[in-house]
Amino acid sequence: MDNHRGCKGCESSYHVTDQQINRMLQAPMFQSPEHCVTDEMYQLRLTACSGCDKLMNGTTCLICGCIVQITAKLKARSCAKPGDDRWEAAAAGIWAAEER
Ligand code: SF4
Repeated sequence: MDNHRGCKGCESSYHVTDQQINRMLQAPMFQSPEHCVTDEMYQLRLTACSGCDKLMNGTTCLICGCIVQITAKLKARSCAKPGDDRWEAAAAGIWAAEER
């Protein structure tokens, strides 16, 4: 699959930078354990995205249009892939390891 086609909502020349993402992640809601997953879960979600054929430019989910480094922080959000929730699969790996 061609992961370099543009997002429907953005100009093809637009790329969000690490600096912009990090600035967004400084917002108070991203510091809240009430709203955010653990650091371990966050890394697992990002790893799941990094191996996904729907990730564009390392930042953008082609299904929902989100910046995964932002969305993956939030407990209330889930992977956008229909019928193949890669974040849930990553979490299931943690839960299975904890039950052993
Ligand atoms: S949120 Fe899900 S569908 Fe989107 S890039 Fe990440 S793993 Fe892929």
